[in-house]
Amino acid sequence: MAFEGLTTRLQNVFGKLRGKGKLSEDDVNEAMREVRLALLEADVNFKVVKDFIAKVKEKAVGLEVTKSFTPGMVVVDIVHKELIELMGGTQSKLAKANRPPTVVLMAGLQGAGKTTLVGKLAKLLQSQNHKPLLVAGDIYRPAAIKQLQVLGGQIDVPVFSLGDQVSPVEIARQGVARAKEEGRDYVLIDTAGRLQIDEALMEEIKQIHAAVNPDEVLLVVDAMTGQEAVNVAKSFHDQLALTGVVLTKLDGDTRGGAALSVKAVTGCPIKFASTGEKIDQLEAFHPDRMASRILG
Ligand code: GDP
Repeated sequence: MAFEGLTTRLQNVFGKLRGKGKLSEDDVNEAMREVRLALLEADVNFKVVKDFIAKVKEKAVGLEVTKSFTPGMVVVDIVHKELIELMGGTQSKLAKANRPPTVVLMAGLQGAGKTTLVGKLAKLLQSQNHKPLLVAGDIYRPAAIKQLQVLGGQIDVPVFSLGDQVSPVEIARQGVARAKEEGRDYVLIDTAGRLQIDEALMEEIKQIHAAVNPDEVLLVVDAMTGQEAVNVAKSFHDQLALTGVVLTKLDGDTRGGAALSVKAVTGCPIKFASTGEKIDQLEAFHPDRMASRILG
């Protein structure tokens, strides 16, 4: 890995301190500079970093340094625990409606990985004995409907489509009705993204939301976009009641700081991590693993 791990950095800072007793404010300030750099290099938003540092500092000043625990280890442990806490603590599961079907709405920019995610979630649900229905609500990207049909075909899950001449709001509404008729217990609705946030996109997805009243609204975010992920999350969160986040493209060489930022900005748990283009490359999101990845 191209980055120097935080543990090594802190050991350098604290090397001289061994056996010194309590950590002074100066010692901690020096350490926090390293923590700050490590987080910024991992692409965590600077505001998020600032709040985070303040919290960690509070816990670290005055800490007792013993022979068995070096100050570096103690601080890394505090940072690690605090990161896990910030990312929601424990693993968060997909919603399940009291009365089926559970309606899941995808939101996000074009290219974030929404259509791919619909296929992946369907496969996961199917392996848990659920019966999903996929709804082709992205009528603007030329290949999106076909892409969803191919994905559905691969895993033998039906795809509801009304072509590209009917409004996505109507498609979503009829899709949910179809799921009820056919006893499908999850409806996964693909939606259109744009290259950037725009009003028409937001208005449309808000209307879909109002029409189908989803149990889960998943914001799909490309982890490789780093800082931009924060702006995207903010815009969607302001307009739409998000219930969860899915980070995609974590197979790339990103340190994953976007995870921390997006969670901090939206307050929504990150539910899944997508780690490749293949249909089975989807994992439940584990805050502890991501904390280790961010710290390097
Ligand atoms: P949409 O516009 O949001 O529906 O995005 P797509 O689902 O079409 O995905 C855009 C591109 O990203 C496609 O080429 C996908 O194969 C790719 N993709 C999606 N998820 C991942 C992932 O987790 N890792 C990688 N490497 N590629 C992904």
